[in-house]
Amino acid sequence: MLIKQIPIRNSLSNYMYLLACEQTLEAIAIDPLDHDLCLQVATDLGWLIKTVANTHHHHDHIGGNGPVIDATGARLVAHAEAMDAIPNVDRGLYAGDTLQFGEIILKVMDTPGHTMSHICLYFSGTNAEQPALFCGDTLFNAGVGRCDFGGEPKVLYNTFAEQIFTLSDDVRIFPGHDYIQNNLEFTLDREPDNQSAIDLRAKFQEGLDAESFVSNIGIEREINVFFRLDQAQVREGIGAGAQDDQSTFIELRRLRDNW
Ligand SMILES: [Zn+2]
Repeated sequence: MLIKQIPIRNSLSNYMYLLACEQTLEAIAIDPLDHDLCLQVATDLGWLIKTVANTHHHHDHIGGNGPVIDATGARLVAHAEAMDAIPNVDRGLYAGDTLQFGEIILKVMDTPGHTMSHICLYFSGTNAEQPALFCGDTLFNAGVGRCDFGGEPKVLYNTFAEQIFTLSDDVRIFPGHDYIQNNLEFTLDREPDNQSAIDLRAKFQEGLDAESFVSNIGIEREINVFFRLDQAQVREGIGAGAQDDQSTFIELRRLRDNW
């Protein structure tokens, strides 16, 4: 699968994605907010956008749908329960559904918590290519989505416990925003002795740019404090509120909201 991660460089640091089949160059656009840039990149690459997919209904993810669809004739797909919040959805998606473009198949995951109708798209990989997760605002590099714009922390925890923590270490992560440097600071605020986070922060301070760094679940288990719910330093920092993984996750989310 061909993957083009496109940073928008707006105030929210959104990423949009173009994914294409190497054989047919048929493509899917995920959350193409900057529609002009998305269309230009697709044209430059010779990719044919057949589908626009939204991970969830927030405006910074759906705001570019119309012009991309007008220019390409693509169909719009989104979570079935987001269809009243996203105009002109052609196909509502459920857990386990698949999206095909050319010879590539993505599996739909139903991942509520940031909003109550949020999907992630999972590519299972090949012999030559590692799996990949296009995770919108569910999972970020070194962080997780906030829940105060229509979500619910307990539901987000359940999504992680049941569907994200269980992914294999080699699954590459392609989130909806570039928040990694701020998120690393939060991890280190909660777990100052986290050597992997210290080392990665140093690389960014030395000039590593976010687009040339692709994280995976194995890396997230080390640098993302929301994956480190049983670590003594994380729990001690929270105190009495850290009774189990769920309460620790929820308390971390609350602390991050106010951080
Ligand atoms: Zn959002």
